[in-house]
This record gives sequence, structure tokens and C-alpha cells, in this order.
Amino acid sequence: MEKPLLAIVIPCFNEEQCIKETVDKLFTVFDDLLKKNKIKPESYLYFVDDGSNDSTWNIIEELHKNNSLVKGQKFIKNYGNQKALIAGLEAVKTIGCDCAITIDADLQQDEWSIEKFIDKYMEGFDVVSGIRNNRKTDSFFKKFTALAFYKVMNLLGANIPVNHSDYRLVSRHALDIMEQFPERYLFLRGFFNDVGFKTAYVGFDVKPRMHGKSKFNFASLSILALNGITSYSVVPLRLVSILGFSMTIIGIILGIIAVCNKIFFANFQHDWAIDLIMNCFFGGVELFCLGTIAEYIGQIFLEIKGRPRYIKDIELK
Ligand code: UDP
Ligand code: MG
Repeated sequence: MEKPLLAIVIPCFNEEQCIKETVDKLFTVFDDLLKKNKIKPESYLYFVDDGSNDSTWNIIEELHKNNSLVKGQKFIKNYGNQKALIAGLEAVKTIGCDCAITIDADLQQDEWSIEKFIDKYMEGFDVVSGIRNNRKTDSFFKKFTALAFYKVMNLLGANIPVNHSDYRLVSRHALDIMEQFPERYLFLRGFFNDVGFKTAYVGFDVKPRMHGKSKFNFASLSILALNGITSYSVVPLRLVSILGFSMTIIGIILGIIAVCNKIFFANFQHDWAIDLIMNCFFGGVELFCLGTIAEYIGQIFLEIKGRPRYIKDIELK
């Protein structure tokens, strides 16, 4: 296989403190790979500014002026990191590349692992997924919620490796296939693990954030997780049916017991406290089930409108 033209896709949202350092570090990796004759010299960086309201985009434009191997686009508003990643992958496919790697703008993912990704690509893998060697930089809460998310996704049949992140290489072939999935809420971690691509895994070290704070909070992570689940799997809907069916059976059995007690033993006790608890419990279960169904209806509502995934404001090629 010929050495690839590599495109690195970097989503960024208010990363003015990181961009320059990130570009320097990634070009150092490029230099090393060029010396080792592992990538083509036209390999480039592609930034997707996810509607930043600081000077992120100005810095990208400045860098592009000095070096056309820094390219990018700016969204008209903030759409979230998944959409920025998708936009970047779509753009580099159009501009041209043999493979693309997605990495965060704060370079928390060790950029020196890129060589290992390329080696796997040269062995013929279409997807090379980065797996965190550890989660030392995460808080206990984030570790716990992330683990819970991966466990739930895997129970739902997603087969996403634990500690996988969006640090990933995808071949041009995988990008061509991605184009055939037009849904708005494409959950990349699920998608690339599920299609059946020839996949390799590379471990990488996680570093602390270079500057600034994480752009995710509990609410945005919950939305990401919920969208991940509802756009990916219908198992929760089946669970709702199974739960409803099981509770009906239990209700019938308990009803028969209560009636028999009343007829044959006449010792049926009516206890308002139990009534209240049961009402609250079943009311809660019903609303939870309705909410689960409503999440899917929300997804259908958003998908059916067929609106664009994102709107580009400016592009630098
Ligand atoms: N990001 C983005 N849009 C958002 C939030 C984040 O493009 O709405 C980018 C961010 O600039 C970074 C990457 O997604 O390049 C990961 O974000 P961050 O490092 O804040 O997340 P964490 O490492 O804490 O999970
Ligand atoms: Mg980060």
C-alpha cells in the first residue's frame, strides 16, 4: 500500500489558548512522519470551529494565511462536537485524503500515537480506534458515568470498547460508506464500531488539558449519551414493552390472589399507605416508560424535518 495523504480533523469550540500550540505539535509529528516516509507531504490539518465566540477562528485564518496546510471551516453556531467531527470528515473527503484522524484541539490524546494509527492503516485496517490507557485526568464522577455509559451501550448491543474515544483513524473507504448514512444524529462511536469495518485498536496516554476548561458539562454529556442511545438502539423500547407485559401478568396474579382471599377467607385488608406507595411507584414507572418513548419520538421529529446537520459559515481550503 502507498503511504497515505493524511488529514487530521480537529473540532474546536473556544480554544483560542490551544490552537497555536496544537498546530505546532501536530506539525512536529508530521515532520517526524515525513522523515520516516510514512505520510505524503501534502498531508494537512483541518479545523472545524464549532461556532466559537472567542478568537479561535481568527487564529485559524491567520495560520492558514501562513501555511495552506492549515485548513478549516467555521459553523454558523455551536452544534456540538459530534457534528463538528462529521463536518470535518465530510470536508476532508471532498478536499481529498487517503485517511483521516480525528483528535481534540486540547491534544489530551497523545499525538505521538498517530504513527501507530498510520502503521495499522498500512496493514490494511479501515478503522483504527484509540483506547485510553487510563483515565487519570478524569474526576471520579466522569470515570463512573463514562463507564456506566459504555456498559449501557454494550448491553444495548453497540459493542463499543470501554475507554474508546473519538481519537480514531478512518480510511477513505470508511468515509465513502459514512456518506451513505444521512441521519442527522449519527453517533460516530457507535457507527464506526458497528458497520463491520476491519478495525484495529491502539492504546494511547491521556494528558491533562493544555489550557482552559473542558467544554462539556454534565448536561451536554447527558445529551450526548442520550442521543447516542436513542439514535443507535431500539432496545429501550423493547424493554418498555417487556416491562409493561410483565407488570400486567404480575397484576393479574395479584388480582386473582386478592379476589380469592376476599371470597374464601374474607380477610382482605385495605391499607391506604400501600395504595399510595403503589400509585406513586406505578405512576413513576409509567411516566418513565412514556419518557423513553418520547425520546424516540423527539429523535423522529428532528430527523423527519430533514434539516441540514450543520450550516457552514466560512471555509478555508
Ligand atoms: N468541542 C466542540 N464543540 C463543543 C464542545 C467541544 O467542538 O460544543 C471540542 C473541543 O474544542 C475539543 C473537543 O471537542 O476539541 C473535546 O472537548 P473537551 O476537550 O472540552 O472535552 P473533554 O476532553 O473534557 O471530554
Ligand atoms: Mg479535552
